[in-house]
Parts: sequence; C-alpha cells; structure tokens
Amino acid sequence: MPEMERVMTNWQELERKYLMNTFKRLPVTLVRGEGARVWDEHGKEYLDFVAGWAVNLLGHCHPEIVAAVSEQAHTLMQVSNQFYSVPQIRLAELLVENSCFDKVFFCNSGAEANEGAVKLARRYGKLHLGGAYEVITAMNSFHGRTLAMVAATGQPKFQEPYTPLPDGFVNVEYNSIEAIKRATGEKTCAVMLEAIQGEGGVNVPKEDYLKEVSSWCDERGVLLILDEIQTGMGRTGSLFAYQHYGIKPDIMTLAKGLAGGVPIGAFLAKDEVSVFAPGEHGSTFGGNPLACAAGYATLKFILEHDVVENCRHVGNYLKASLEGLRAKCEKIVEVRGRGLLVALEFSSDIADGVVKACLEEGLLLNAVKPSALRFMPPLIIGEKEVNEAMGILERVLARVSKEGGSKVSL
Ligand SMILES: *Cc1c(COP(=O)(O)O)cnc(C)c1O
Repeated sequence: MPEMERVMTNWQELERKYLMNTFKRLPVTLVRGEGARVWDEHGKEYLDFVAGWAVNLLGHCHPEIVAAVSEQAHTLMQVSNQFYSVPQIRLAELLVENSCFDKVFFCNSGAEANEGAVKLARRYGKLHLGGAYEVITAMNSFHGRTLAMVAATGQPKFQEPYTPLPDGFVNVEYNSIEAIKRATGEKTCAVMLEAIQGEGGVNVPKEDYLKEVSSWCDERGVLLILDEIQTGMGRTGSLFAYQHYGIKPDIMTLAKGLAGGVPIGAFLAKDEVSVFAPGEHGSTFGGNPLACAAGYATLKFILEHDVVENCRHVGNYLKASLEGLRAKCEKIVEVRGRGLLVALEFSSDIADGVVKACLEEGLLLNAVKPSALRFMPPLIIGEKEVNEAMGILERVLARVSKEGGSKVSL
C-alpha cells in the first residue's frame, strides 16, 4: 500500500468492523518503537511507562533481541516437540542456572503457564497427597483468562460472566497467613500467589507474609506456586521476586517479559515436583525456537549488563521522585511498589483522567485501579526518563488540582 494511503486509513473504524470488542483501548494507534519511546501513526512521540504491559524489559526493538529473532527466523522458525531443539535447551539452562529450580516447561502465555503449574500440582497431589487437588489463591489476584485461571483469579468481575467455573480453587484474603491456614485441608495440593499483586493494584505484601506461607506449605506438605509472570525477570529489583523474601517456592510461573516482547510462557519446578510423565502435558508452540531465541537474548543481556541493578536504582529514584510529588500534591495518598513496578494512589477516582491527559502530553501510563496509576517502564530506563515523566505528570496533576480534581479534561 502506498505510504499516503496508509496514513489515511482509519484504523479505529476498521477495528470496530473486524475485531471483537474486548479491549478498552486508548485512542492511539502505535506503529513504531525504540528503547523507551513509541510513535503513533501521525508521528507523535510517547515516553512509554507501560512497556507492552510490563513486557518490553529491554525497551522496544532492542538490537540484541532483534538480531537473535532475525537470525533464528532465517534458520528455523518452528519444530515439533517430537524433536530436540537447541534454543529451548539454551534458555532452560540459563533459567535453571540462575534460579532455585531444576526443570522448565515452556508454553506461550501467562495463563497457560499457570494452568500448567496447577496441572503439575494436581499430578503431584494424585501421586503424593492422596488425591488432593484444591489450590488456594488470593483475593484481588490475577492469574489469567482461561476458565480455570478465572476461577483462580480472586476477582468477582472476571468470574461472574462465566459461571459455573471449574472446581478446585479457593480464594482467600491476600496478605493473611491465617486465611491460608483456615482454608488448608485434606483436599489442598497447593497455594498459588503473586509475589506482589500486579493487576490487583501493585499490592506489596507484609515483609514476612511469603515466608510464613512457605513455612506453612512445608509443614503441611503442600506445594507453593509463585506466579512471577509480572514480577519475574528483574522487574522488582531482583531477578525473581521470591529472592527478596528468602523463600524457595516449589513452582514458579513466568511469561510477560521472559522473551522481551515475543509471546512465551514457562513454569519451573524443583526436581522432586517435576512429576509429569511423557504425554501428560504438552504444547504445539511451547518452546518455539523464535520465542526461545528471544528469551535467551533477553535473559543473557539482563545478566551480562546487570539490568537488575539498574532497575533497583532507577526504581528507587522513581519512588523517591513520586514521594516528592506527593509532598506537593494533596491528591496523592500513597506510593508503593518495588523496583520498576510502582503504583501511585490518589484520594479519589481520577486515574483514568490522568492517564488520558498524560497520553495527550506524550507519556504512556496505566490506571491499574480507578484511584491508582501503575508505572512499569522498560528496565533499561535512566533517571533522565524518570525526570521527563515526572515533569509531565506534575503538569497534569497541577491542572487536575486547579480543576477541583473531579474531572480531568483534555
Ligand atoms: C499478565 C498476568 C497473567 C496472565 O498472562 P497472559 O499472558 O495474559 O495470559 C497471569 N498472572 C499475572 C501475575 C499476570 O500479571
């Protein structure tokens, strides 16, 4: 299509004609990205603090990921899991050698990784826990969109449209060891939690919560599954968030940032928990060479360039900057998070309006709740990008305060 014609296309209208109406989209069509910046179809530039939903850890079109994907695309794009595949083995080795786990299974998304983890826990339950199959999860969690993961996700708004839901999940209060103790019974095979609840609002648990849960699971002989789909791969300032809390879960799930922007999912387990026999679990695309080559390039870069240390440093800088903003803006009531997964809580439901106003000003942010913003930029950003984002946010918030805060107009 000639360039002029492409610019004239009304993509939003075409989308309404051809795509199911499932996403509440912002009125922008992004067409290009580089580092922490993206551009829309009209050439307008944005600083990206959403990063493909906490996916693009190394920013957009990182040269080493682009090179790895291009090379793999030219070499071998897909093989059946009937055969051994080098990129899959290389990524698995890197993950195992840098975590407390022994074995990996690759799939294609977060929901699928959690499904696999729950299947593994159920298999373990049949073999070692007298047929126990129930999984305890937390309220306000998010584990994905398949029917079973909707049952695992402790949020009525995701569950009610699809009842009846698959059996075998109990949702209890987050951040309460007592709630987990009360729910544990003969049928329990596992507890599944996010290290920090991402979609639920960037909820950081009490310092000793995960350690208490881990001890309880050990005591009762049930498995601890940690969903690190959002928190893993350096996002919270350690390669995996479980490392902050001095625990070693039995199973961990990954997706989002694992391949720096290429679809992938994985779950990892200790040897004694890796109880699948051949044929009991599988995936056509899981471990796809293209995705695994991207994952290998991403993780290798993170390790070799100490991206995690940068995330920790810039994350602290971001939080300090937001605290500075809080001192100036009475609408801000709390700053919370770890590394580059941070939320800003307002005293009222102005987050959607702030996101739209920031978009207008060239900054991409997410309203994780009606009353809270979430910051999840690429892990390679520096203080300069934080300063730029703070400048825009401060301008927008000053306008909100002047307008009384009930409505942010563009
Ligand atoms: C995004 C997310 C998922 C679901 O991942 P999908 O790839 O969208 O299926 C599951 N758990 C957590 C913690 C997530 O952040």
